[in-house]
Amino acid sequence: MPQRKPRISFEYFPPKTAEGKERLLNETTPALNALEPEFFSVTYGAGGTTRDSTLGVVSSIHDAGIAVAPHLSFGGDDEAAIGGLLDTYRELGVRRLVALRGDTPSGMGGSAQLVYASELVAFIRERTGDHFHIEVAAYPEIHPEAESYDRDILFLKGKLDAGADSAITQYFFNVEAYFYFLDQCQAAGIDKPIHAGIMPIINFANLLRFSRNCGAEIPRWICQRMEGYGDDQESVRNFGIEVVTQLCQTLLDSGAPGIHFYTMNQVEPTRTIYNNLGL
Ligand code: FAD
Repeated sequence: MPQRKPRISFEYFPPKTAEGKERLLNETTPALNALEPEFFSVTYGAGGTTRDSTLGVVSSIHDAGIAVAPHLSFGGDDEAAIGGLLDTYRELGVRRLVALRGDTPSGMGGSAQLVYASELVAFIRERTGDHFHIEVAAYPEIHPEAESYDRDILFLKGKLDAGADSAITQYFFNVEAYFYFLDQCQAAGIDKPIHAGIMPIINFANLLRFSRNCGAEIPRWICQRMEGYGDDQESVRNFGIEVVTQLCQTLLDSGAPGIHFYTMNQVEPTRTIYNNLGL
């Protein structure tokens, strides 16, 4: 029987500089688009801090005839502002969104009231009907603020029941955590696809720091190996590619519906990992 092609997507963040945006649009995007992803997605800064730059990158990718999904959260905005942004995306012809609660931007003291993603999904459906395919976030190693494992899955179900079509996970390196999570989701009555979010290892020190905040575990054996390489960047890069290729291969062999690469706006190592998989 011919094998179903897994869904592949690539995530960007909006660059801070004009040169960064130019490179992203004119070099990175053509190179990654040659791999025929289903779509690119563009993150939305905590608290709406990248509202204009996210829209700018999304418009440019969309104008190039490439499917693109803006990430969106209420941040500090009201319904009129978010409704206006939704109208803009709809008028542009964008057909996909990633709907999130988001976090409080650092430096704001964490006191702002955040709107749960399920409420944003309901708002999008109420305002725009079936226009958008809506993705939401899922956490195989469980969201750091979750009350419990089961409650986090219940709230994921809430987002999907509110009208989201599918989910993309936080990145992980423990493949068992993902498949156990899928089983638990299924047992909770979730029948929509949960795509694996994968972080190619680019800068290990940054990855360690970021993982502490977002609740993704880096297995001890990976840390030990990376630390052992010290400043030997070539070994760090090769080992990172080997580990992430193996992870993706296991995911695809075991039936993951697709992979969403957190590209960090770089062609490599995402392209090498993709090519290693023989997709
Ligand atoms: P929610 O689904 O609303 O859940 C947040 C927390 O609240 C969880 O602990 C959940 O268990 C709990 N919860 C949910 N509903 C309820 C309820 N009714 N009562 C009590 N507790 C509840 N962040 C950005 O700022 N910008 C981005 O572009 C971005 N993109 C992302 C893309 C992906 C694929 C992923 C996985 C994450 C992304 N994030 C982004 C990070 C995300 O915003 C944070 O992890 C945030 O803390 C949670 O967002 P959420 O949409 O998962 O929230």
